Amino acid sequence: MIRFEDLLDKVRAYSPDADLELLRRAYVFSALEHKGQIRHSGEPYLVHPLEVSDILADMKLDPVCIAAGLLHDVVEDTLTTPDKIREKFGEDVAHIVEGVTKIGAIPFSSTEERQAENFRKMLLAMVDDIRVILVKLADRLHNMRTLQHMADDKRVRIAQETLDIYAPIANRLGMSRIKNELEELSFRYLEPAAFEALRGKVEAKRKPTEGMIEQLTADLRDKLREAQVPVISVDGRVKRLYSIWLKLKAQKIDLEQVYDFVALRIVTPSVKDCYATLGIIHQTWSPVPGRIKDFIAMPRPNGYQSLHTSVISDRGFPFEVQIRTEEMHRLAEEGIAAHWKYKEGRVGAGRDEQYFQWLRQLLEWQQDTRDPQEFLSNLKIDLYPEEVYTFTPRGTVKVLPKGSTAIDFAYAIHTDVGHQCVGARVNGRMVPLRTRLKNGDIVEIIRNASHKPSRDWLNFAVTSRARNKIKHLIQAEEKERAVELGKRVFDKEARRFGLNGTKLVDGEAMQKILAEFAAAKPEDLLAQIGYGKVSPRLVLDKIVPQDQLKEQAPEHPVVSAVKRVLRTGSEPDRIKVRGADDVMVFRAKCCNPIRGEQIVGYITRGKGVSVHSAKCPNVINLMYDPERRIDVEWDKGADVAPYTVRLTIEVEDRKGMLAELSQRISDINTNITNMEARTGDQRARIDVTVEIKDMKHLEQVIKAVRGIKGVLKVERSSPIPERR
Ligand code: MN
Repeated sequence: MIRFEDLLDKVRAYSPDADLELLRRAYVFSALEHKGQIRHSGEPYLVHPLEVSDILADMKLDPVCIAAGLLHDVVEDTLTTPDKIREKFGEDVAHIVEGVTKIGAIPFSSTEERQAENFRKMLLAMVDDIRVILVKLADRLHNMRTLQHMADDKRVRIAQETLDIYAPIANRLGMSRIKNELEELSFRYLEPAAFEALRGKVEAKRKPTEGMIEQLTADLRDKLREAQVPVISVDGRVKRLYSIWLKLKAQKIDLEQVYDFVALRIVTPSVKDCYATLGIIHQTWSPVPGRIKDFIAMPRPNGYQSLHTSVISDRGFPFEVQIRTEEMHRLAEEGIAAHWKYKEGRVGAGRDEQYFQWLRQLLEWQQDTRDPQEFLSNLKIDLYPEEVYTFTPRGTVKVLPKGSTAIDFAYAIHTDVGHQCVGARVNGRMVPLRTRLKNGDIVEIIRNASHKPSRDWLNFAVTSRARNKIKHLIQAEEKERAVELGKRVFDKEARRFGLNGTKLVDGEAMQKILAEFAAAKPEDLLAQIGYGKVSPRLVLDKIVPQDQLKEQAPEHPVVSAVKRVLRTGSEPDRIKVRGADDVMVFRAKCCNPIRGEQIVGYITRGKGVSVHSAKCPNVINLMYDPERRIDVEWDKGADVAPYTVRLTIEVEDRKGMLAELSQRISDINTNITNMEARTGDQRARIDVTVEIKDMKHLEQVIKAVRGIKGVLKVERSSPIPERR
């Protein structure tokens, strides 16, 4: 058990002029307040805050932080108020104690929603003063170390919470020493049988392995000395049980097959020596291809730097090697805590920026994301990073989670680049936007200022940043469309009673009913009508006296059509049903007919009239009830907004083909919104999405494309069915 004097010695050792008086006062106060309290272990309560402060001192944190460690449970477990702490120990100590108390008071629940909420609160606390989370992590670490004294169910709950929340946060802050211990302990209590079995097996292997490690270490020292490469230390160790276990589970292998069961760690005086050491290692033993990683040139997002390689010894024994400088080593172990300059008070500028950038980003998403479930799954993606390193054409590194696509890359550069992204070139070749990026890919994003994100992107965007930005914009646009549509539908309904919809919307009666629909302004209510959530008739009933509501025409199934129209994005006004002016119509998604094309209408059940191309197989195959067919025509008077049409073009794979194609299409005043190419065996398939005014226009485009040398086939492809 640690003594208070030992703690003082420890602090004095790294910070000779620290305010030890503050610590002494905090200790005495804490001892007094916790007097008589006993932990589950049977020890006096005071042991816990002392141990927590000791962990903080191991991280070489400032006296304020260590005093907060001594006092961290005082507010929660005794009658002391935060104000009293403030008065006695100052604003900073009180602030940290309060933060830690608040986090502790969050009831843990297994529902994802609660968990997300916990994260948010912790993040807010972290951004405010990172020391809150440092104390909380130290607190959790000591509680995990003494978890055996807890009841079974509590043990499992705390261990799970640690694995789900605290270990990932420690990892993201680069604090691998703490993260590792938290994980090992969680593993032990969550999977006791697996833990014991694995520990037994590893123990059995340890003895012979240790001899081998010693031999390897000695050999390496000799080689380095011969080559006059200086090193500070060479250590060999068996890897942690939890990381071995993860590997066994993920790769479905047994212990014998684990590649890097053993790791050598080499600490050198300088970066130059790191690379020299790597060279010597590769001369001494055979490197395993594909396992060399340069995290010095490209640090991980949490700041981690090292060279990694895996080699095979003369006797066929595989092991991993990590090479780093002393500073990198301290950073790798302590992360953000190593950045803490204890005299400066708050963490701020310089290298700490990278951590805070992450925190700020999380907060930004937190504000964009209303759904806690989604926030949590986003957070999970970012807390368990497995990265790919990609480059802009100018050589800037973009680190993305594994599985990221060109779209993610675009959003990683800038939100606008993402929104306007129409295509991508990876290593000089046009690729579909859904292409997953690999390490070392050079990615060039092709933009078009008038382009907007499509919902389809959500099927392959991986990063939370990209997904949030896409959703955000789509939602905003849908809302705009819903307001527009709601206005029209409401107006139509009002007209049936000889009323003026616009006047009603602006009127006083409207204002009075907004709250009832949880709407802040009339637009919000119109949007609800537009989304089909609220019927226009219901609103009329509420704002117009009953005697004015005498029907002048039969009702038609307008509202339910609204949602469908919104989704397809088609404009209901461009098609007329012969003989009936105000029937809701929409273009069928299966064939997406365009102006000028032969069309037929089909009366749906409650969704208005769907309009198909006369050639649509759904119509031809008489999948529909023939009695419901209805004549429709293109409305000649309506103004012409373009339709998007996708063409699939088969070409000979030759240089300049893409350039010529886009040139010819642009020549006839046609906007290209997307272009994706796949090359095969001397042939290429290009998908081009163009904006088309009408059938005649489409024919012109097809003719122009057919005229290009090397074009083998042009087809109008059916739209990709929406996956939702
Ligand atoms: Mn505690």
